[in-house]
Amino acid sequence: MSRKRHVIVGGGTAGINAITTIREYDRGDAEIVLVAAERPYARMTLPYYLERSISESHLFTATPPRLAQLGVHAYLGRRATRLDPQVNTLTLDDGTTITYDNLLIATGSSPVKVPVPGAESPGVHSFWTLEQAHQVMAGSKEGAHVTMVGAGFIAFTILDALLSLGVKLTVVEIAPQILPRMIDPEGAQVVEEWLKKHGVEIRTGVHLSAIEEEDEKKRLRFQDSEDIVTDLVIMATGIRPNLEWLEGSGIQVNHGIVVDHYLRSNIPNVYAAGDVAEGPDLISGGRAVHAIEPTAMEHGRVAGANMAGQQVAYRGSLLMNIVGVQNLEIASFGAWNTPDAETFSTLKAERPAYRKLVWDGDRLIGAILLGRANDIWTTNDIGMVKGLVQSGVRLGRWKEYLRHNPFDLKSAFVASRTTAQLLSRTLLGRPSIPAHRVRAVRS
Ligand SMILES: Cc1cc2nc3c(=O)[nH]c(=O)nc-3n(C[C@H](O)[C@H](O)[C@H](O)COP(=O)(O)OP(=O)(O)OC[C@H]3O[C@@H](n4cnc5c(N)ncnc54)[C@H](O)[C@@H]3O)c2cc1C
Repeated sequence: MSRKRHVIVGGGTAGINAITTIREYDRGDAEIVLVAAERPYARMTLPYYLERSISESHLFTATPPRLAQLGVHAYLGRRATRLDPQVNTLTLDDGTTITYDNLLIATGSSPVKVPVPGAESPGVHSFWTLEQAHQVMAGSKEGAHVTMVGAGFIAFTILDALLSLGVKLTVVEIAPQILPRMIDPEGAQVVEEWLKKHGVEIRTGVHLSAIEEEDEKKRLRFQDSEDIVTDLVIMATGIRPNLEWLEGSGIQVNHGIVVDHYLRSNIPNVYAAGDVAEGPDLISGGRAVHAIEPTAMEHGRVAGANMAGQQVAYRGSLLMNIVGVQNLEIASFGAWNTPDAETFSTLKAERPAYRKLVWDGDRLIGAILLGRANDIWTTNDIGMVKGLVQSGVRLGRWKEYLRHNPFDLKSAFVASRTTAQLLSRTLLGRPSIPAHRVRAVRS
């Protein structure tokens, strides 16, 4: 009897977690084929590489020897170009055709630049892939002027690295505030002042209209602000899921590939995971694309378990963004931006510290937390608030307590027995096996 074949398209966090999980269950019984345009690495480690605190070898999540240990036949550097679910075949960019029993689409997303003249010229970079990181590293010399177009989460993941390289940094943003999809205007004000104090120039509410060459530099023109002349431009102006290659395949797509609680698409033996998937949202109960690392990891593991024949239902992903800039921690969770919800917010401008708690009855459904990294309450409370939102625990009278004592989350966290609730809920319904102990016994 021929072995079952699982084909994984994409070697990022979702794809590699799916592979490891399949092997946790089948120990090498099925064939696994990986098709990945890039060598497998975790994009979220690129900022540490940019600031030179890790070497390039530390980025990779599955080297060829590790893939061999897992019994994976890998097509690295190859792209999937066509999917035909009628006959279960995948076609690659060199014409190779691969048949499958189960297929996982984990092709992630790609950065989108603002469509202005000059956006595609040399010296205007995205920071999403290792190759793009190399380009930015080559141009970010000490004393260089770097202009970041876009002040969202991804831009913020590399601000510290850029500053550590000794560049002069300007951030421009079209929205009236920085981090517009991560925190509210009050929180953004705190962060903006903090960054200005650390030497970063910030302009919000400005519309870039063109990027022109000027000697060896770039001139950024705006509809409503003075020009900026800069050495290097990084555009962090959004991402879109990599879906083009699925055109005509019949896979149902909304903002991402629509998947159910088993990470299955509308075609039962085709799964999707990570940035490319629109899966269950833990808080709303609806569906959402959460283009973040924890979602890619959880999706990959749940999809892998189901591909391996388990019946693992996913509760849903929690939107969360956590980033630090110049020792200021910024975090938001869940439905922090629900217009009609009851909220408590507190600002201690002198520290600075800001927090906002968003409620549905006595359950916390979203939160924003800002504070200095060396304030003990910041670091501890980020973990606790995540637990409170993720567990959906009812806080009863502790809700009123938090209205008056928003900086004492610990009492509410302990009294509500949130840890016990979280511990009883494992992703796959059993304890995880450490990844390094997973391998294919037969291949
Ligand atoms: C600089 C940076 C910092 C970040 N920091 C954080 C952070 O702090 N916290 C956080 O939660 N998230 C962070 N993220 C986001 C996080 O990295 C992504 O959400 C995560 O990588 C998504 O994983 P994925 O497996 O879905 O996709 P990806 O990691 O993008 O992997 C997709 C894979 O598919 C391949 N591929 C694409 N198209 C094809 C094709 N047609 N055929 C074959 N292969 C294909 C790609 O080459 C890649 O290997 C960061 C991202 C960046 C760029």
